[in-house]
Amino acid sequence: MSDPTASAQSRLVVLAGPTAVGKGTVAAAVRQDHPEVWISVSATTRAPRPGEVDGVHYLFVDDAEFDRLVTEDQLLEWAVVHGAHRYGTPRGPVEEALAAGRPAMLEIDLQGARQVRRTMPEALFVFLKPPSWDELVRRLVGRGTESDEERERRLATAVDELAAEAEFDVTIVNHEVHDAAAELVALMTLGRD
Ligand code: 5GP
Repeated sequence: MSDPTASAQSRLVVLAGPTAVGKGTVAAAVRQDHPEVWISVSATTRAPRPGEVDGVHYLFVDDAEFDRLVTEDQLLEWAVVHGAHRYGTPRGPVEEALAAGRPAMLEIDLQGARQVRRTMPEALFVFLKPPSWDELVRRLVGRGTESDEERERRLATAVDELAAEAEFDVTIVNHEVHDAAAELVALMTLGRD
């Protein structure tokens, strides 16, 4: 590690991929298996699902608060996801984690990944892919937390999202969640030491 600044910068990993591919589950596995990795907590205007904890899974904010974060340029990126709610990455904590030299990870949608690509092109962009389209549909239906209308909207989004794989630096196929998490963490530490 001759240049600690460059090394810290190279450790930002942006994980994106189609809806229901299991990005959140892989992020949770990274959190559990690799506590040395810092994972960004996004702000969102959507309501918490059962079991979700404010400040842990998301920062749950109202529209006025989200507006304030945008106006004050406190978000590294933000997007309306699935045509419904706003999600964004608070900028300060990411910068602090990188400055501290911690491997850092964002788990965000494709629109957000494209924004980060413009502002932080040195980050590593990782596309999480389902083993197959049928498996993606099965996972989306299996989750059972969305209405029929919401599920249709997410599937339509997923078709576009799958086509974006070529924009990414690396693809990980999510066959098994802990394997995918281990592959991801290996990428964060690759080329160091
Ligand atoms: P969910 O509502 O199921 O938790 O997440 C819906 C989508 O929002 C997921 O695809 C997730 O990756 C995306 N998402 C979560 N946080 C952020 C964020 O901070 N920025 C962006 N652009 N997308 C996010």
